Amino acid sequence: MVRGRVQGVGFRPGLYRSMTMLGCGGCVRNTPEGVCVEVEGPEDAITHLLRNFAGMVPSRARIDELEVFEAEPTGETSFHIEKSTEDGPSLLPVPPDFAICPDCERELVESGGRRTGYAFNTCTCCGPRFTIARGVPFDRVASVMDEFPLCAECSNEFKNPENRRFHAQTMSCPECGPALSFFCPGCAGGDGGAEPFRGSLALEAAARYLKNGMTVAVKGVGGFHLACDAMDAGAVARIRACKGRPHKPLGVMVADMQTARCICHADRASENLLCSERAPMVLLRKKPTGILSGGVAPGLQHVGVMLPYTPFHRLLFDQEGTPPVLVMTSCNRSEEPIATGSFEVASGLSDMVDGILDHNRRIENRCDDSVAGIIAGSPVVFRRSRGYVPEPVMLGYGGPPVLAVGAMWKNTFTLTSGRRAYMSQHIGDVSDADNEDYFEDTYEKISSLLRIEPEIIACDMHPDYPSTNFARRLARQKGLELRPVQHHRAHILSCLAEHGVDGPVIGVSMDGTGYGEDGNVWGGEFFVADARICERKYHFKYIPMPGGERAVAEPYRMALSYLSDTYDPGKALSIMETRGEELPLQQVCGLIGRGDFSPPTSSCGRLFDAVASILGVRHICTYEGQAACELEAIADGFVEDAYPFVVRNRGIEFSQAIACAVEEKRAGENIGAISARFHNTVAKVVVDTCCRLRSEEGLRVVALSGGVMQNAYLVERCIRGLRAGGFSVLTHGEVPPNDAGISLGQALAALVEKNSGIY
Ligand code: ZN
Ligand code: ZN
Ligand code: FE
Repeated sequence: MVRGRVQGVGFRPGLYRSMTMLGCGGCVRNTPEGVCVEVEGPEDAITHLLRNFAGMVPSRARIDELEVFEAEPTGETSFHIEKSTEDGPSLLPVPPDFAICPDCERELVESGGRRTGYAFNTCTCCGPRFTIARGVPFDRVASVMDEFPLCAECSNEFKNPENRRFHAQTMSCPECGPALSFFCPGCAGGDGGAEPFRGSLALEAAARYLKNGMTVAVKGVGGFHLACDAMDAGAVARIRACKGRPHKPLGVMVADMQTARCICHADRASENLLCSERAPMVLLRKKPTGILSGGVAPGLQHVGVMLPYTPFHRLLFDQEGTPPVLVMTSCNRSEEPIATGSFEVASGLSDMVDGILDHNRRIENRCDDSVAGIIAGSPVVFRRSRGYVPEPVMLGYGGPPVLAVGAMWKNTFTLTSGRRAYMSQHIGDVSDADNEDYFEDTYEKISSLLRIEPEIIACDMHPDYPSTNFARRLARQKGLELRPVQHHRAHILSCLAEHGVDGPVIGVSMDGTGYGEDGNVWGGEFFVADARICERKYHFKYIPMPGGERAVAEPYRMALSYLSDTYDPGKALSIMETRGEELPLQQVCGLIGRGDFSPPTSSCGRLFDAVASILGVRHICTYEGQAACELEAIADGFVEDAYPFVVRNRGIEFSQAIACAVEEKRAGENIGAISARFHNTVAKVVVDTCCRLRSEEGLRVVALSGGVMQNAYLVERCIRGLRAGGFSVLTHGEVPPNDAGISLGQALAALVEKNSGIY
């Protein structure tokens, strides 16, 4: 029995070829648990097989577990692929969606082939999987491809062991497969005609629209994108206006790696990630001379870049006139789920698009693009979706199946089965009603796809998160126990889970906001934590958060609060420079002393907000984390010194740092240098506090988590300082450090408590 990523990657055909070559008989079949292989043959062949098994499987397979049993030979001399068995729980049902492979890409452009210019070219090792899967095991009949019966020629290829599409479940050709079409919203046809354009005419039309500065909705793998020329400021501005997204960075897709290098700096690690079969969007540092419109990622140093990861994207860029850099942002109104149906786009979003490049391969599971970046030389996933989901994270523990519902923003949920933790795709802000529905739909789909019936439900401690309400409802319905897990403990556990580590560690959670055990808003926390116990040892000093949640979107509120903590309120008001922006400063100052309107917070994210506003970088945000991102973008990488801070009663106080920053700004110091010194200060707080905890608790391993740990400038300095101090450091990689990772940490907490008999 082989478990891991062994289905939908050409595992059985690959094995067939190796076994036939070795002269072994037997069979291979997909089961919901993994792939079952029976082999018999000469002794030396079997020995060779057992020794070299890992090298004999296809490159996109991943073996997590290999179990070997001895059995009586049955006299089988030939090897064959058996029909799948379908019952039982599913341990690895469906692989993630893979980017087009080099062989299929070659077939696209080579002239005269059966699949030249074919927009849905896939093979055993590439193409959509999760987004088209309806059931397990992953076979054509259990996917939306069952609507496209194979033609005679494809059928021959499918049955021929010598062919590279032998048993390719998603294969098709122009004869029998899906097709592209292009039409304008409001009429059935292309360019206002009665009939849509089809095939290559559809691609030509899309290219023509894009070239002329128009917006085209492009149906992709997990949903529709809105596309326009990323070098055309007017087109970019129009997409922003339609989406209701004034500043939030837009992702782009570039024709090829060479184009990516024209607009951005790309190191080897970023290139590897971009070109991998997961093909995420990767954040790259913009070149100042780039041709990219300034409206794509305003105020930021980085822009999210993708390569064409499907044949139709590849073909679109090959059309004459297609701009080499296209904005490719999810087709939705701001914060709503990504659209998957052309009807939805043509009717609901028709004001946004001039044309629709559609196809008739249905999207069964909605899935956004994944987003990753390189921090300290290693990839870190910020949004784990297409290309990653539903691949499990292997935990150090097994136990009863758990559903963990995550937090509020950037929501994901996690379902566990044994040691496997399946994190859902990015769902988004579940305080939005549409996303709440999306959450519940996705839960229904994934729990049935994975055949997992949870026995424990974990949620955030926050009493009012919609995800917590859902968890409560489900627990009541099914008579299950509900386990609330503190937000920042879940952050630390998500990092431990990813590394398969138990602790104890020093857990550093630098975060936006999360509900604390004392009912206050936490977010700058130092724990001593293992999988079971998490004790808060130090934290950022509590500062009032004037207007509560409103302060998250309006950093000037935290600026006033930190300034009032440093000086008297009158001086605080006089320091704030609003440069013409009309802000109710006086009123907000009035809230600061009132506990009912200003809950205390120890949030690190709110400290960044305060500094961004004090420096005049941003007073009001139009997307989550904007102030902190813009503050990071201006930080001068050559500045090494830091401001002073004080540790009193286990609280870390920044009033001296704030006073220094204010003083330097008044003296005319460059704000990039002030931003850098402030970042360096927080890094120094992290390193110094870890040193204190080492001498108090004897711990030398540090886990860094929380939304602020997406800040590459900060994380790199924390890692450097900690390593120089003799610590070993655990950081995030494939599990997001932000709230998208929370559900994994919650799941681990529930499993561990169950195992240790705490309840
Ligand atoms: Zn391929
Ligand atoms: Zn065919
Ligand atoms: Fe968080």
